[in-house]
Amino acid sequence: MDYLAFLFTGKLPSAVRERQLDFHWEHVDEGVMLLQGKNTQQKNTQQQQNLILSAGIHGNETAPIELMAEWLQDLFEGRLQLKVRLLLILGNPEAIRQGRRYLENDLNRMFSGAHQGFALCDESRRAQRLEQLLMTMMTAQTPSQSCWHYDLHTAIRASLLPTFALIPAPAQQATDAHFRQSLDAAELDAVVYHREKAATFSQFTQDYCGAQSVTLELGKAKALGDNDLTDFAAIDRVIRAAISAQQFARRQKSSIRRFEVLQSILKSQDDFQLHLHDQAPNFSCLQHGQVIASETGRRYQVEPKQVWILFPNAQVKKGLRAGLILGELV
Ligand SMILES: [Zn+2]
Repeated sequence: MDYLAFLFTGKLPSAVRERQLDFHWEHVDEGVMLLQGKNTQQKNTQQQQNLILSAGIHGNETAPIELMAEWLQDLFEGRLQLKVRLLLILGNPEAIRQGRRYLENDLNRMFSGAHQGFALCDESRRAQRLEQLLMTMMTAQTPSQSCWHYDLHTAIRASLLPTFALIPAPAQQATDAHFRQSLDAAELDAVVYHREKAATFSQFTQDYCGAQSVTLELGKAKALGDNDLTDFAAIDRVIRAAISAQQFARRQKSSIRRFEVLQSILKSQDDFQLHLHDQAPNFSCLQHGQVIASETGRRYQVEPKQVWILFPNAQVKKGLRAGLILGELV
């Protein structure tokens, strides 16, 4: 199963349809594939685990898209065993084909109904469709079933801590220690905890599908085919272990650094300015007194002793987030 060829040409290879597999698969919607074991009557714990993997929510973040294509290929060729109900999602198919972050609006600002606040466009329709699909497919679970969601990204800019996880704002459901263990095993450099709800995909699956959800930033975005997938070996091992219901490897790096979002920088005026150099990497440290951003009627200034900046971007549309101010949890 060549997921990418399928995405680009829309044609399923005929060999796939004929092959004997020990799982059922279904092409649910464009870029959305559901795989589940044939013996659905079997009520062991492995069968009750749902796993959602998404990539290409931003169409130019290619390494996770390539990884996902490999996982699917290995499942179809028997090199990877399926022990969960697996939903694979390529988030924004047309943006992926065009190698663009998005066509009209950032898809990852449109979930949990936020798409209703935008004029109809490819992304607002896609957000609504993905919400419908997930609500239907994931609410059919029994209460004893669990659901994990890894939304896989690469960042636009350089990062002093190259790989990190963003955890949506607190959920009703308790944190699954096994899920958090997977983040350690993925050798991530940092975890960032949101304190306010956002319109991201991982927030949506957490709030509406009862999932343990995370957005993963796995390094720098490159063009399709230009990635060295060995750079992504640790997350690759973790996802393969999750698909096959295997134990996660022990972490080799020093402990993950933990941050919380202290404040979102909102761009609400035309004269909005970020007082950082254009290439300031993620996790740049800012000192007390420094003005981070300003616009008519508002100034963002460092108040605690030191803070860190994440996703600074003065070019976002008005009304959107132009950066996050972080504090370190010690
Ligand atoms: Zn992204």
